[in-house]
Amino acid sequence: MGESKLRQRLKTVKDRIRKVAESCGRDPGSVRLVAVSKTMPADRVREAIASGVTILGENYIQEAREKIAELSEHPVSWHFIGHLQTNKSKYAVKLFDLIHSVDSLRLARELNKQAGKINKVQEILIQVNLSEEASKSGTSSGELKELATEISQLEHIAVKGLMTMPPFFDEPERAKPFFSELRRLRNQVGAAAIPNLGMDELSMGMTGDFEVAIQEGATLVRIGTAIFGQRM
Ligand SMILES: *Cc1c(COP(=O)(O)O)cnc(C)c1O
Repeated sequence: MGESKLRQRLKTVKDRIRKVAESCGRDPGSVRLVAVSKTMPADRVREAIASGVTILGENYIQEAREKIAELSEHPVSWHFIGHLQTNKSKYAVKLFDLIHSVDSLRLARELNKQAGKINKVQEILIQVNLSEEASKSGTSSGELKELATEISQLEHIAVKGLMTMPPFFDEPERAKPFFSELRRLRNQVGAAAIPNLGMDELSMGMTGDFEVAIQEGATLVRIGTAIFGQRM
């Protein structure tokens, strides 16, 4: 697959983001694209950066450590979007500008501790599991407000908003209620005006459903396949 293919795909994705944002009266600049590069080798990621990608999303700490080291000369932002094991927190705070997938106080406390050691305030999103699928990570909507309140008190953590991953549907429209529910929760928790708690970001939407997510208010879309092609 040549460079032009990736470039073309990226352009198509950006056009689709712009079109859907405009069609629902949103500023296309209010939707940031996270190019999900998990399983993609550093060369492909370099190509994506050369084509204009500025935020990369990774799921696995070990893989990300190697890739980020290899691409350290590029001024891009790396986001962690996968399930984070507590014992990997010390790497996560060194590598990532935003961690999308914090779903427990235990993990947040460890991130706080590790971020403190390197004098960093780690930005995070709280992942919410709206489908109640046991296999998925995320806090329940019922526990969200309490968790957010406790995390907001951690000195080296800055909560920026929420993330979710709905079940997979063939028809993206079916994911819509999950996205609108995340927005409702964001507004609800935001309205509680908890000190030191940001609720501006909504990380939702992937290759199959990002347009619907943008209609429902996504500020970060996490797109892999539509940019890089099928993963091996
Ligand atoms: C892999 C992954 C994505 C990207 O999925 P695509 O369907 O390839 O766009 C987005 N978010 C998370 C959490 C992922 O694990």
